[in-house]
Amino acid sequence: MQSRLGHLIGSFRVFFAQESVLRRAVPLAIPAVTLVSWLAFGELGLLICAFLLPLPFLAFSPFSESSKRRSANEVDGLTGLLTSAGIECKMQDKLETLQQDGRVTACFSIKIDNFARLRENHGDQAAEDVLRNVANRLKSALRSGDMVARAGDAAFIVALEPVAYIDVESGIQMATRFQTALEEPIPLQMASIYVSVSVGFCLSSRLNNPSASAMVQAADMAMNEAQLTGASNIRAYSTDMGRKVISRRKTQSEAARTLQRDQIRAWFQPQVSTDTGLVTGFEALARWDHPERGILAPIQFLDVLQQTGQMSQLADLMLRQSLDALRAWDDAGFNVPAVGVNFAGEELRSPTLLERIQWELDRTELQPERLGIEVLESVVAGAPDDMVVRNLEAISALGCSIDLDDFGTGHASISSIRRLPVKRIKIDRSFVTNVDRDQEQQRMIAAIVTMAERLGLETLAEGVENSSEHAMLAQLGCSHVQGYGIARPMPFHETLKWMTAHQEKIGPALQIGNKPS
Ligand code: C2E
Ligand code: CA
Ligand code: CA
Repeated sequence: MQSRLGHLIGSFRVFFAQESVLRRAVPLAIPAVTLVSWLAFGELGLLICAFLLPLPFLAFSPFSESSKRRSANEVDGLTGLLTSAGIECKMQDKLETLQQDGRVTACFSIKIDNFARLRENHGDQAAEDVLRNVANRLKSALRSGDMVARAGDAAFIVALEPVAYIDVESGIQMATRFQTALEEPIPLQMASIYVSVSVGFCLSSRLNNPSASAMVQAADMAMNEAQLTGASNIRAYSTDMGRKVISRRKTQSEAARTLQRDQIRAWFQPQVSTDTGLVTGFEALARWDHPERGILAPIQFLDVLQQTGQMSQLADLMLRQSLDALRAWDDAGFNVPAVGVNFAGEELRSPTLLERIQWELDRTELQPERLGIEVLESVVAGAPDDMVVRNLEAISALGCSIDLDDFGTGHASISSIRRLPVKRIKIDRSFVTNVDRDQEQQRMIAAIVTMAERLGLETLAEGVENSSEHAMLAQLGCSHVQGYGIARPMPFHETLKWMTAHQEKIGPALQIGNKPS
């Protein structure tokens, strides 16, 4: 028996000597080792296991010094930056002396917005080039002593060298500096790529006895908050943020029931002609008018509606409110030629879609030409579903127009566009941003406009944020524009005020009261 025990201990020793194997294998091996010992030695085996198995953990556990040293030096293969384990280790060392020194620090969580989409559109190679580029820019934006790590596919962590004083204001300034460095165009082989980043940060003074992992978690929470309010945002961690996150989880479960409560409203964003400045339509965008949390954007509830199978109820509700709005604009004497409603892919597969649209048009006595259906380019890319094609053909035959949304992001082939009854393409915001200053963007828009002209399609540029982008798009031959530079989405009652002001701005060109026939 002694020789068997000696053999077992010998094997343990060899096995435990392989530290990296040990770290991964021990948790899996414990039940097997215990079972084998019990079978071999009965209760004595169990006793041996109880005394011996904790030893390797004490020697090699992730909390041990050697393991800590190893983590602290781990680097990410793609960018050469520290890993998140590495930065946490180094940060922890600094945090331990922080309070005695009376100094403070801050941790930033930085994430590239919509990175999955960028990878999908430009491929893995370009995505990796972007990550390396972002990593280098981040390094150059730091001072010596600051640390940066890659913490996930498109996420980075920055930990500042402790200083005597830092407040929210200076945290925001620093986050803005990172954004400015990272949001410059990234030149790749074929074209420049624009990325935007969301930044969340946490000051050590906001946490009691801050640990590195608590700092990172708090910065991540702030970054998630930033992303929820749209791309390229900055948020500072505050103690009530944790409570807000819990309340949002509650909100999501509420969202599943919200349609019944009639809290979803259509807001409207105007689209104008680049020739005349006249309003050519409004896009209806869903908003949740939450009784406690105020107005919530679709990113906060569309997923839940989708998961709970309520997209068709949403489409009905948006269609009804949009056509009611058209009627009301007509009655108030405004000339709004059309309204555009977004339809999700699954909704476009519904066998009752045409009937429901027809029914709503009859109810409001509006001509089908005045309703536009916005379909994401990705829905019709490749080989679109037969049912989608049939529905779109029928809706178009009825007289409604079809807009291809987010054009340039979904790989629709020219033949799929020709096969479908598309009337207009909505050029995605990623081609529009900085078009006034960036020749690469100008060339892309010019190419899209030329292609559209050849195919007999109209064009609308989305996300136009200022008057010089607007002017450049007009010059490049884009026929319609939409974006914050013209107006943000607004509730119905504000559209009346906005149109009156817009009429005054563009002057006599607008024919008041000239209702479409
Ligand atoms: P989308 O159809 O591409 O709508 C345009 C989005 O860009 C809107 O965001 C709008 O508020 C925003 N936007 C407009 N101009 C600008 C600009 O100048 N700059 C920037 N940064 N953003 C601008 P929103 O309302 O948050 O909607 C997001 C997405 O949610 C929509 O993207 C659409 O895909 C979806 N969505 C909205 N309402 C509905 C709906 O009723 N049904 C369905 N299925 N999807 C909807
Ligand atoms: Ca849209
Ligand atoms: Ca769009």
